[in-house]
Amino acid sequence: PVVLGIETSCDETGVGIVRGSTLLANVIASSMEEHARYGGVVPEVAARAHLEALGPTLRSAVDEAGITLDEVDAIAVTNGPGLAGALMVGVGAAKALALSLDVPIYAVNHLVGHVGADVLADDEPFEYPTIALLVSGGHTSLLLVHDLTSDVELLGETIDDAAGEAFDKVARVLGLAYPGGPRIDAAAVDGDPRAIRFPRGLTKPKDLVRHRYDFSFSGLKTAVARWVEQRQDAGEPLPVGDVAASFREAVADVLVGKAIAACVDLGVPRLLLGGGVVANARVRALAAERADAAGIALRIPPLSLCTDNGAMIAALGAQRIMAGHEPSDLGFGADSTLPVTTIQS
Ligand code: ATP
Ligand code: MG
Ligand code: FE
Repeated sequence: PVVLGIETSCDETGVGIVRGSTLLANVIASSMEEHARYGGVVPEVAARAHLEALGPTLRSAVDEAGITLDEVDAIAVTNGPGLAGALMVGVGAAKALALSLDVPIYAVNHLVGHVGADVLADDEPFEYPTIALLVSGGHTSLLLVHDLTSDVELLGETIDDAAGEAFDKVARVLGLAYPGGPRIDAAAVDGDPRAIRFPRGLTKPKDLVRHRYDFSFSGLKTAVARWVEQRQDAGEPLPVGDVAASFREAVADVLVGKAIAACVDLGVPRLLLGGGVVANARVRALAAERADAAGIALRIPPLSLCTDNGAMIAALGAQRIMAGHEPSDLGFGADSTLPVTTIQS
């Protein structure tokens, strides 16, 4: 089926079009620069930006796909989690489009979209069960995926900051601009990852909190801030590259370490990565290295499908159709705190 997907959960207005598991178009307009001067996303600004960007983004995606709107078989839209006002712009537009084209609509969980994005990049269908590591700006979760269209189990999640949030906060401490992830990644290229040994949160057995594979990044963030502060108080120059590389190494080590441990412990030799932080060069490299050593089949989406986009939402809608699931009722709302385990709304 040809599915058009709309994503407006945060600061990216994304429209993607797929035919089954084939990507036809992926157009993204970002209001990131408007938020950069505030050091983070401003919800009201994001919602207004979606309202302005959505029309032109829809137009470009249809043009890029080389189709006409009457070839669209279904609409998919992110209904959460995310910023309430931002989500409402996408959901409203998606419903109007579905009604006017007289096609079904599928409400898609943004987080499940991140996890399923690689279906567009790899010809092999997903094999189940698979372990999935979701690392984004607002979430850090380890999942046991029985079926991306119906059944996802939570193995662990962050008890404080998300990994992407830690990147953004540490970037600020280092005087790097928002969003911090890509900037730390770039600064780390010239640094020594072994220069500073930053803490790895929740990696000792006694640390276990709610779930066996929970994460914690706030201690790491504080440790970096304290280290930087001591340097500055001593009037010494800040080795930004070394701090960035050492911090990035600590994050990658914990994320990949737990994901591989879960694969081994549960006897599931398949690992999927998803979310904006998976754009990180060290996370990708370390995951590839350790999965290879452990005999685990690893799937990592290309960079363009890691951060927020509409194509992953369209892809999940198409997966739902191909698995024979019913569309969503037109009365669904936007849920800013939709849990990753709620797949169909
Ligand atoms: P969520 O998906 O949880 O609702 P979100 O949509 O804001 O949150 P994403 O767009 O998936 O999150 O990812 C954005 C996050 O990814 C930001 O925190 C950003 O700093 C981080 N990020 C992007 N590129 C990189 C990178 N190269 N290295 C590390 N982090 C990165
Ligand atoms: Mg974003
Ligand atoms: Fe996201």
